[in-house]
Amino acid sequence: MSTRHEAGTAGPHHVLILGAGYAGMAAAIQLAARGKRREDVRVTLVNANELFTERLRLHMTGTGQPVARLSIPRLLEGTGARFVRGWVTAVDADERTVRIDDDRVLRYDTLVYGLGGVADTVAVPGAEDHAYTLDSVHDAESLAERLGRLGSGTVVVAGSGLTGVESAAEIAERHPELRVVLLGRHAPGAAMNPRAGAYLRSALDRLGVEVRGGVEVAKVLPDAVELAGGERVAAVAVLWTSGTRAAPLAAAGGLTVDERGRVVTDATLRSVSHPDVYAVGDAAAIRQRYGVMHGTCQGGMPTGVHAAVSIVRTLRGGQPRPFRFGYYHTPVSLGRDDAVVQFTRPDGSPRRWCLTGRLAARYKETVTASPWPTYARMRKAPASGAFWPRGGRFTREAP
Ligand SMILES: Cc1cc2nc3c(=O)[nH]c(=O)nc-3n(C[C@H](O)[C@H](O)[C@H](O)COP(=O)(O)OP(=O)(O)OC[C@H]3O[C@@H](n4cnc5c(N)ncnc54)[C@H](O)[C@@H]3O)c2cc1C
Repeated sequence: MSTRHEAGTAGPHHVLILGAGYAGMAAAIQLAARGKRREDVRVTLVNANELFTERLRLHMTGTGQPVARLSIPRLLEGTGARFVRGWVTAVDADERTVRIDDDRVLRYDTLVYGLGGVADTVAVPGAEDHAYTLDSVHDAESLAERLGRLGSGTVVVAGSGLTGVESAAEIAERHPELRVVLLGRHAPGAAMNPRAGAYLRSALDRLGVEVRGGVEVAKVLPDAVELAGGERVAAVAVLWTSGTRAAPLAAAGGLTVDERGRVVTDATLRSVSHPDVYAVGDAAAIRQRYGVMHGTCQGGMPTGVHAAVSIVRTLRGGQPRPFRFGYYHTPVSLGRDDAVVQFTRPDGSPRRWCLTGRLAARYKETVTASPWPTYARMRKAPASGAFWPRGGRFTREAP
């Protein structure tokens, strides 16, 4: 197979952004908008699909509900940024090259690594082979197709975190003919304040979801899951939502990663091993004073914006600044007309306030729908994307 080399490093500074998810899109739009009148910078965005994957809605796709078709190349029109559709198969951080679909090689001066994460199906035997995931539109559509054909039987949702809760609720609401069992180490909503957690559990109960907290799934079989201790729960389909990990590409490419394969960054979001690589979103292990950030859209978009601003600052001869972020909410859908929104402290711990019911469902929908209009606004006014809670004393380094 012949290899095509593209986008050499002679000429303008080439910023290559991998992944057009919430974080990578934010970086691309922000950078393209800020660099529009600059001859010395060129931006390329690589993604598996031309349509933006609204990961926040994959539990809807997984239950056969239509979602908007959002074209990435169309949004980039007029910005000067180039879009390359393709699957990244390798990164070489020493050579500063990226291989696409095994036959094209792109060179970069600065890389923004934003390939996201996937459900951790490796940790438990059988999960990779027998469980569905919500890692991509294709995965979600496979689940929808299966659920649509079943007619009866038990669907096990493994993992009682927020993705598991949202998915179990959605499946129960869309498929009342199926029995839905939600299994996890913790009671769903355990990290919320008592009122929000109780509301969440009562909504699952209302939808008929059978919840079993305090259990460990040891194995996934073709027709059941086996719990630690040997008990089997028969299942016609299993959805795996427990834990996340990043693709092995970063580690294989020589970047320093953590135990979940995420690129370890310094305070400014640059790779600790390769400072010409910025890591953003779920693919990055970003330490704040309160700990390593967990993957969310609310934190992911600011990481993309920050990386873009830092790259522009560096090109002007400046130094990148530390990234600071504090969480502010945890919105969880409970089917289409119900939700709970837990407001949080910057370190993610629950505050006393929460929203529930239809108002919370509207809040959740507003939040879910907001990234695309935010990108469109940023294209015209890049500074509008630079507002997010910095976390106050929770993220300020001690003097
Ligand atoms: C069902 C569900 C509900 C969620 N709800 C919420 C919520 O309410 N609030 C919240 O904050 N977070 C939520 N999350 C988490 C949130 O979706 C992630 O934190 C967020 O998507 C991370 O953004 P990202 O840009 O880092 O990665 P992603 O959005 O995953 O984007 C990564 C992009 O890279 C592409 N890609 C990956 N590998 C390759 C490759 N090798 N080659 C080419 N392209 C590649 C993917 O196709 C994708 O476009 C939810 C997740 C799920 C699954």
